Amino acid sequence: MSEITEKLITCINCPVGCRMTVRLQDGQVLSVTDNQCKRGDVYARQESVLPMRMVTAVALVEGSETPISLKTATPVPKEKIGEVMEAIRGLRLRLPIQIGDVLLRDVAGTGVDLVATRMLP
Ligand code: SF4
Repeated sequence: MSEITEKLITCINCPVGCRMTVRLQDGQVLSVTDNQCKRGDVYARQESVLPMRMVTAVALVEGSETPISLKTATPVPKEKIGEVMEAIRGLRLRLPIQIGDVLLRDVAGTGVDLVATRMLP
């Protein structure tokens, strides 16, 4: 049987910033303590096993001096951020772009779309 390890994780879901202790064994979460609410428990479990992040960036648009700002529609695995940024650098976008337009589906095989967060007419 492998040993039990502990991780300290700070919850980022609200300004309270609870510092939680996660006990793990064989990559499985045994317990989460020091969280003041359920959201912290959910976040700590996710962060311990498969950390996820939203990605925001800007990309060049053909024929526009202004770049387009964009983001992933939902968080993606932290380990995929490099591939996501590479895909963003490879985008060849054209005008016009509306807020919420899907600029790339299934970025880096994450199953998550890249969407525009501003309008470029
Ligand atoms: S555990 Fe709850 S109260 Fe604590 S920081 Fe997270 S969201 Fe806020």
